[in-house]
Amino acid sequence: MHELRDLYQEVILDHSKRPRNYRKQEDASSQAKGYNPLCGDKITVFLTLAGDVIEDVSFQGAGCAISTASASMMTESLKGKTKEEVESLFQLFHDVVTGQAKDEGTTEKLGKLTVFSGVQEFPVRVKCATLAWHTLRAALENREEAVSTE
Ligand code: ZN
Repeated sequence: MHELRDLYQEVILDHSKRPRNYRKQEDASSQAKGYNPLCGDKITVFLTLAGDVIEDVSFQGAGCAISTASASMMTESLKGKTKEEVESLFQLFHDVVTGQAKDEGTTEKLGKLTVFSGVQEFPVRVKCATLAWHTLRAALENREEAVSTE
């Protein structure tokens, strides 16, 4: 179990040091800003949609390792997904980081994102891990005002 834990930490560290899809999209279909005052994490999510499908998703921001890694891995997981698929992934992710996942198949469906399951032991970090997702949902809904986890 400890080895597994270390492996998870490695993945999170890697993504926080070299975040994927860390760029602005000048011609994004929509974008949204998110803020987690508890930790000071700030993020902007850029979204390009083709109909109902996410063609491109990227982000920029400044935050702790968890929030950066979560945003990075989220962007990697969502390309080619429909809005509906994004919503169900978000629910799964939320259940996993808050320790509410009961379905045995959750890990399979979430794939690499299950590395964040360790966050459930640190309630304060849950908001760091979910900030990118809340912000993405705001972008999907074209909400202009900044999302705050408070
Ligand atoms: Zn944070």
